[in-house]
Amino acid sequence: MDRVRALSNGVEHVQYVSTRGSAPALGFQDAMLAGLARDGGLYVPEAWPRLSAGEIRNLAGKRYPEQVLEVTRPLIDGAIPEDDLAEMVEQAYAGFAHAAVVPLKQMSSNAWLLELFHGPTLAFKDVAMQLLARLIDYELSRRGERATIIGATSGDTGAAAVGAFAGIACVDVFILHPSGRVSEVQRRQMTSVAHDNVHNIALEGTFDDCQSIVKALFGDHEFRDRMKLAGVNSINWARVMAQMVYYFSAAVALGAPDRAVSFVVPTGNFGDIFAGYAAKQMGLPVDRLAVATNVNDILARMLSTGRYELDGVVPTISPSMDIQISSNFERVLFDALERDADAVNALMRDLSEQGGFSLPQGVLDVLRGDFDAGRADEQETLDEIAATYEETGEVVDPHTAVGLLVARKLQLAAGTPVVTLATAHPAKFPDAVKRAVGFEPKLPPHLADLYQRPERFDTLPNSMDAVRAHIEMNSRF
Ligand SMILES: *Cc1c(COP(=O)(O)O)cnc(C)c1O
Repeated sequence: MDRVRALSNGVEHVQYVSTRGSAPALGFQDAMLAGLARDGGLYVPEAWPRLSAGEIRNLAGKRYPEQVLEVTRPLIDGAIPEDDLAEMVEQAYAGFAHAAVVPLKQMSSNAWLLELFHGPTLAFKDVAMQLLARLIDYELSRRGERATIIGATSGDTGAAAVGAFAGIACVDVFILHPSGRVSEVQRRQMTSVAHDNVHNIALEGTFDDCQSIVKALFGDHEFRDRMKLAGVNSINWARVMAQMVYYFSAAVALGAPDRAVSFVVPTGNFGDIFAGYAAKQMGLPVDRLAVATNVNDILARMLSTGRYELDGVVPTISPSMDIQISSNFERVLFDALERDADAVNALMRDLSEQGGFSLPQGVLDVLRGDFDAGRADEQETLDEIAATYEETGEVVDPHTAVGLLVARKLQLAAGTPVVTLATAHPAKFPDAVKRAVGFEPKLPPHLADLYQRPERFDTLPNSMDAVRAHIEMNSRF
């Protein structure tokens, strides 16, 4: 069965299809502006384009923005003129505090940390969001259109989205965060941005409630069309695409395409690790992809038992992974089901009606061919922060620590480099870090006065109608 078709060299632009099979196939720009497909599915390329070993080898030594252009070329496929794209990519990464954008740090003889937190809001989400905001602004301006961006956040997506879209004239941004369940640094990064196009909503509920409301608003087609809703959660294909680049970047630095590399990825919504899977489909030699979760471990349980079963969400010290419904998992499921949209629909129906679904054994075997999983509880996470500091002098954030502990537990193949994704800067989670190492990591200079900045947000009940009315009332359009 040829699950991975190579694209032909024909003139047609790459098309994106929905995992649920009934939304129209779209080009890159339309898939980006849509976010979620109209049938509730997620967009993926109609077939995975592949980079040759030679093309992958040529990435080595290039500057990060150049690597972005090379990796995304077959996915954007001429939909944006190359010069314009190059300029947006340069600008997107100019604001990163490290010249390498996503530096790779050696931790021991065979273990590496990929630091993805040098962007403006100190989490890996900046890597994609800084580019996405420019791509959306560019396309809307070209069309003379505007959009209302709505997103749910467990903390970091919202900060990254507000940081990237603040002040962009053609968009209004509404970000829902679960009231009292994001760290103070995360909240202040969102709420202290004083631009008229930024609207923060503290929802009296969990992250999953925020995400359900956002999904329901996208499902209300009249509202969606009238407000020109656009989504920037990790369901947005363009975000996944931007995240694929750092897998290539790290792997070529460690010897790809002539040597395979494994990645351990602190995971919540499955977006980041899906980008690693997508890089593998495009030809990057990735050995294992390890899902690292906190006690909200639906993904780890699913890989060990074959049963994807919802359970309550428990607040943890790694709040950006306090998620049960991992939206992007649907994308990998679509491939594992040999792109049978009816089969995806059936499982998603079970999920919404019965709170879970069982994977056919064949599908589970396919998933286990690519993915491993492990989890860390709260004490293990704190212990890992302390142990990493003692052993290496590095202070890591709780999400990264979950990844490092899972890397230790899994004992991936000797000889294959293991890269753990460092998804947030430790200063974003000062309380947990202090509990582990006895001191608070310092915020970088551009955020040093964060605690003195005034905040702006509205608290709303856990109700889709209340959120819809609020958006209608406060949109500038
Ligand atoms: C968002 C986030 C994650 C989880 O990423 P997903 O793409 O949702 O799996 C992990 N760590 C941090 C710090 C995050 O902000």
